[in-house]
Amino acid sequence: FPIANILGVKVAALTMHQAVDTANELIEGKNNSLIATANAEMIMRATYDDELKNILNKAQLVVPDGAGTVWAANYLGIKMPERVAGFDLVQNLFKLAPQKKWRIFFFGSAPGVAEKAKLKAQNDYPGIEIVGIRDGFFTKDDEKEIIGQIKTAKPDILLAALGVPKQEKWLSAHLQELQCPLSIGVGGTFDVMAG
Ligand code: UDP
Repeated sequence: FPIANILGVKVAALTMHQAVDTANELIEGKNNSLIATANAEMIMRATYDDELKNILNKAQLVVPDGAGTVWAANYLGIKMPERVAGFDLVQNLFKLAPQKKWRIFFFGSAPGVAEKAKLKAQNDYPGIEIVGIRDGFFTKDDEKEIIGQIKTAKPDILLAALGVPKQEKWLSAHLQELQCPLSIGVGGTFDVMAG
């Protein structure tokens, strides 16, 4: 797909359907891939946070999360077919997860939130395998244990909800060690699911 360079962040111009297909390929490729969902706030932040910008530009896929991102791309002359919001992308992956037998790990948000989000996912997508949960409030000392917990759970998809840019930086720093086929920074997704 065409790529829009928005203030130095390369965002894919693709449909939700193509984003889901790409996620599927990345999972099957088992290559410790990262998907980021770029809204205007994330792109603005990348203009003064080089670490974030580099992570985004190394990610296997950056999708346009938000009307501002779609608008900016179209303004630059790159046709963006639609908004691919992180929340919606995740729901679409959940829909496919039972048949694909994908194992999913929920990492992040306040204590109790991911548990509620898990119940919601199990209700909405029968047969979905949420293989682990961990809240997103931790110290450096906890990280080894968190990484161990994720590795033991062997997820195909790791969803990290630590806020921007913490989730992107944390995932990027640990991608190789985690050996998870696909990781995605999902922001407030668990909060929304938990209601
Ligand atoms: N969060 C977390 N650990 C932190 C900071 C934030 O788990 O150290 C969680 C927070 O509870 C929320 C999520 O990160 O569930 C995303 O927060 P927010 O929507 O404020 O961030 P954004 O995605 O807008 O950057």
